[in-house]
Amino acid sequence: MESTTTKNCRACGHLIRGRSDKKFCNDYCRNGFNNQLKAPTENNIRNINHQLLKNRRILEAMLPLEEKMVIVGLLELTGKGFNEAYHTQTKTTATGNTQYFCYDLGFFKIENEKCVIVRNT
Ligand SMILES: [Zn+2]
Repeated sequence: MESTTTKNCRACGHLIRGRSDKKFCNDYCRNGFNNQLKAPTENNIRNINHQLLKNRRILEAMLPLEEKMVIVGLLELTGKGFNEAYHTQTKTTATGNTQYFCYDLGFFKIENEKCVIVRNT
């Protein structure tokens, strides 16, 4: 004998009848519910991408086109909204410095609250 139960749709709360493994009234409810679950993750990814692109834009604006590197104050960077926690890759130079890149542009800290902005070559 097939078991039928009544329970509530996980999306809209309406009573549903039918097979006991049914969780939603219909595809509309199932899709809505699943999209809701995905939303926080997608927002999080969007925010991270936004900060990475912002970081890159700030580095780009401070590094003159014809230059390979430039020294700037750390406060200058952070004052524009640069967040050093967000980078796409790191690179360790022969001299042991770790450079943090946002795509093709990067930076590394030097003494006296300064840092060097570099291109990834
Ligand atoms: Zn429903």
